[in-house]
Amino acid sequence: MPLLEESSVPRDCTRTVPVVIIGNGPSGICLSYLLNGYTPYLDPMAVHPNPILFRKLQEAKHLPITEQDLEYLCEGLEGRSGNPVAVLFDTLLHPNADMGFEFPSVLQWRLEKKHHIPHLVLGKATPGGAWHAMEGSMLTISLGIWMELPGVNYRDLTPGKRRVVSNDRATPDEISSYYKNYVKLMGLQKNFVDNTYVTSVQKLHRSHENSLGNEKDTINGQLNGVKNGFDYCNKNSTENGQNGVVNGFSNELQNGMETSSRRGEIGEEDDKRGKEEVKETTGVSQGLSQGLWEVRGYQQFQGDTHVPFSLFAENVVLATGASDSPARLGVEGEDLPYVFHSVRDLGVAVSCHGNLGSSSDPVLVVGAGLSAADAVLCALNHSVSVLHAFRKRADDPGLIFKQLPKTLYPEYHRVYHMMCSQVYPASPVANPTAPSSSLFPDYTSFPEHCVLSFQPDMHCVMKGSNGVLRVFKVSMVLVLIGAYPNLFFLKEQGQYLGLDPSRPISCRQNPVDINPYTFECNAEPGLFAMGPLVGDNFVRFLKGGALGIASCLLKRLKQRMKKNRKLIAEEGGCGGRGREGSGGGRRGFV
Ligand SMILES: Cc1cc2nc3c(=O)[nH]c(=O)nc-3n(C[C@H](O)[C@H](O)[C@H](O)COP(=O)(O)OP(=O)(O)OC[C@H]3O[C@@H](n4cnc5c(N)ncnc54)[C@H](O)[C@@H]3O)c2cc1C
Repeated sequence: MPLLEESSVPRDCTRTVPVVIIGNGPSGICLSYLLNGYTPYLDPMAVHPNPILFRKLQEAKHLPITEQDLEYLCEGLEGRSGNPVAVLFDTLLHPNADMGFEFPSVLQWRLEKKHHIPHLVLGKATPGGAWHAMEGSMLTISLGIWMELPGVNYRDLTPGKRRVVSNDRATPDEISSYYKNYVKLMGLQKNFVDNTYVTSVQKLHRSHENSLGNEKDTINGQLNGVKNGFDYCNKNSTENGQNGVVNGFSNELQNGMETSSRRGEIGEEDDKRGKEEVKETTGVSQGLSQGLWEVRGYQQFQGDTHVPFSLFAENVVLATGASDSPARLGVEGEDLPYVFHSVRDLGVAVSCHGNLGSSSDPVLVVGAGLSAADAVLCALNHSVSVLHAFRKRADDPGLIFKQLPKTLYPEYHRVYHMMCSQVYPASPVANPTAPSSSLFPDYTSFPEHCVLSFQPDMHCVMKGSNGVLRVFKVSMVLVLIGAYPNLFFLKEQGQYLGLDPSRPISCRQNPVDINPYTFECNAEPGLFAMGPLVGDNFVRFLKGGALGIASCLLKRLKQRMKKNRKLIAEEGGCGGRGREGSGGGRRGFV
């Protein structure tokens, strides 16, 4: 993807956003919902089946969950996430779900303006994240209702859709269209800037930050600063005829600015109210600040145009998921054009290219996880024969198939059955390059095999546990051995944020080290992480990150606004004006 020179981003085309969320998958969408002011309360009609939790919830039923002590609410709860807030939010949304019940949520959502925090969600493609990139014929592992986000029933948004199996698993298309519609239905679009790639996130040094802050030592100064930057960008984007990040930004922040300037024209009373509002807005901005981040990147438009942007953010949330960098074997020939790392590529090949079908050479699938199983199923459904190589023994107790109930996941058990029963014979073949009659017609399993190389003539060389080499001609290879988060845009690729900073971030082995109640990175105040990056690989649990982060930001905002008001009152009381660092001045609050 060609990148424009980042240095070409005009320096004054910058503005400060209280929160920038990187990633527009379910994590980013759910957090945006809460930051838009959707506020969770205990439903007065609801009874939670956990009596201890229910008693605690009733103690503070007048308060939104986001304002309550999450640590206290989480005490004693157990569930299938290592993050206590994820378990809490899950049991509030789906009480006793693990016991097979489908109880309604005990939460009531109210849209409250005072809980709104301006933010932007930047993400590649359209809202939905990884769900846009999945192969269409597979079914989710989770039940459809576990994939839903707060406030909109998944079944209500997909009522006409045929349920593919008797249970409620869904297709990726159903889920991604649910997420896209959710954003529209909840009025979140103004916060989303689609087709946006973040290429750098850097914490600003104090000196730089102070020079930015100087512009903003007064409320007017700050507004002028924002407006000038805004006008500059708008002009540029109009000249380019594009509707870019700037416009996405305008929806969210310019509205507030225009409202307050219009008020000035109306009259004294309105003017006074307008000023109050401006002070509060300033509070939003300054109250959340733990230092400033510079976020850079580009937005992609039709015709492959890339328009760079740069923003300042007081808080950055990493919601970038974990499926952007497929794991590689690291063997010779892995970059050859017939070697792929995504099931979707197989889907495209079987549906669009007439050259992959029943008479083609087999497809080699490498890996023993669910994505590999999806690829096997996809190939078999299109009558393409499969060679399936994986490092583990077929009866290895760690294989994922052993954890899936047969009745819910019959298709994965079908693959597992073939992995165990249609095994290539262990004895060596005299001429390894000759076509082998030992292959099963549709599917052949190669347990305890590793790939040594891919050759330009489409031959793959594999080695079995007994050291025997085998060579097969194939039509396509799918290497599906996992994926890693890609935090290339951070210092040290974000490695310093991990539980073990000497190793790369990985969802299972080395997640981002966070405060379990706020999801703020322990190594970096003002930087938050959620979803697979913190070990919550399922949509059902990643919502907890949204609750933790929104609760943290709202509590900080409330505290700072209180402090702000006190300072303003003190200033008013002694008739003081222009005391450095007071009132709207940035330096008094950082
Ligand atoms: C094949 C497969 C099947 C799955 N099945 C299930 C299932 O059944 N149930 C379930 O709960 N979960 C399932 N998952 C996991 C699920 O996809 C994740 O839990 C969920 O999508 C994570 O949401 P997220 O918003 O954190 O990240 P994602 O959905 O990955 O979204 C993050 C988005 O951020 C974007 N991004 C990354 N870097 C940048 C950048 N620098 N700039 C801009 N944007 C960026 C990414 O491209 C992506 O679009 C499955 C995953 C896969 C791969």
